[in-house]
Amino acid sequence: MNNQQPQMNVNLAGQPAFFCPACGSEGFIPTIKLVYLDMFHSPTKKDALIPVPMGAVCGQCGKPAEVNNHWKQLLRDKQKAAKKGGDA
Ligand SMILES: [Zn+2]
Repeated sequence: MNNQQPQMNVNLAGQPAFFCPACGSEGFIPTIKLVYLDMFHSPTKKDALIPVPMGAVCGQCGKPAEVNNHWKQLLRDKQKAAKKGGDA
């Protein structure tokens, strides 16, 4: 079998970590939704819940992880501050 999947071949070195816009945490918890399949549509002929990945929420404050303009502005501010101040 030659079932090749497209590979995510991205160099993450130097890329910023996503952080929570509300609390600044970089730790997130993956979230899923559960799709209900009734017994007539389920391959097992029983009611089933099928997990579908949805994204992530902040591990500290529970806000959903989402890149938006507000977050991009926070990132720019953070990067500016890091350039100017170093770790003084
Ligand atoms: Zn948070």
